[in-house]
Amino acid sequence: MSDRGRRLGLTVVLVACAVLSTGHAQLVPGTMDVHWNSGSEDCVNNPQPAIQVHRYNPQTFILRQNPCATYEAPFLYLLVGKNRALLIDTGAVADAKAMPLAEKVISLLPGGEPRLPLMVVHTHGHLDHRSGDEQFRSLPNVEVVAADLESVKSRLGIADWPDGIGQIDLGDRVIDVIPTPGHHRAHVAYYDRQTGLFFSGDFLLPGRLLIEDREAALASARRVAAFIAERPISHVLGAHVELSESGDVFWGSTWHPRERPLQLARKDLLALPEIVNGFNGFYSRRGIYVLMNQNRILLLLGVGALLLLGTVVWLIRALWRRLRRGVSHGV
Ligand SMILES: [Zn+2]
Repeated sequence: MSDRGRRLGLTVVLVACAVLSTGHAQLVPGTMDVHWNSGSEDCVNNPQPAIQVHRYNPQTFILRQNPCATYEAPFLYLLVGKNRALLIDTGAVADAKAMPLAEKVISLLPGGEPRLPLMVVHTHGHLDHRSGDEQFRSLPNVEVVAADLESVKSRLGIADWPDGIGQIDLGDRVIDVIPTPGHHRAHVAYYDRQTGLFFSGDFLLPGRLLIEDREAALASARRVAAFIAERPISHVLGAHVELSESGDVFWGSTWHPRERPLQLARKDLLALPEIVNGFNGFYSRRGIYVLMNQNRILLLLGVGALLLLGTVVWLIRALWRRLRRGVSHGV
C-alpha cells in the first residue's frame, strides 16, 4: 500500500472511531439560525407577536414568549415523536387571549385527526414555567403532568430521586429525564437522544443562576457531567436568556437589545461543577453567569430593613423624650 493509501486508511479508521465514540453520526441535525424578537422599551407602541416559533428541525420546535408579553421571556420546547409529542414548560402567561400558547402548540402538531397525543411536562414548578398549564387541561388527548416532586417522580419514572434517570418514550424518540434540584427542589433537565439537545431549564442558562440549595445544585452539576460523559450533545438550551452580547444582565426588562445566543455547549455543562463549587452562597459573578441565592439575599434585605426601622423608631423615641423633657423643664 502506498503512503497516501495508508494515510487515507488511517484517516478513515480515526473518523470511524470518533463517530463510534461520540455517536454524533446518529444525531438528527437542526438549525439554531434564528434571531429572537428583542421586545421593546415601549411595548404599547411597538406591539410584537406574543410567541415566536423557531423550527429546529421538522420534529423539534423552540417557542419563545416575547419580552413584551412577559419580562421572563421564557423558552419552551416541543418535541414530536411517532406516537406522541412532548411540551417542556408552558411559560409565564396564563391568559389565552394574551398568550395563545395551546392554540399555537396544537397547530404545530402533525396535521389530521386523530391528533397526536400531547404530554406537557416542566423543568420545574416556578410560575414562569407552568402558568400556561390551564390552557391545556381541558383539551382532549393531552396529559399535563403536575410540577410537584411526587408527580414528577411517579409520572416521569424516577423512583430513585435524585440519582435515578427517567425516560419518556415518544415513539422512536426517547427523552431522558435527569433530576437537577438546586434551583428548585423538583427541577429536572431533559436529554433528547434523537437530536442530542439538552434542555436545562433554569439549572443552566446564559444569565442568572439562582441557587436555593448549593449542595443540591453541586450534586446536580456533577450528576449531569457524569450523564453526558458518554453522550453526544448538540446544544444546551435553557429556559431564558438574560445577557447581552457584552455580558450586561437584563434585570426584569421588556427589552433585550443585542441578546446573546440561547444555546450553550457541552463544555459549559462540564464546567458547571467547578462554578457552583466556587459559589459563596449569596452572590457572585463567575464567567458569564451571575450566581445568586435569592432567598438569602431577600432575608438579608429583610433583616437590614428591620434594623433600619428599629433605628428610626429608637431615634424618634429619643427625640420625643428629649422634647418632653424640654417642655417639663420649661414648665
Ligand atoms: Zn425557576
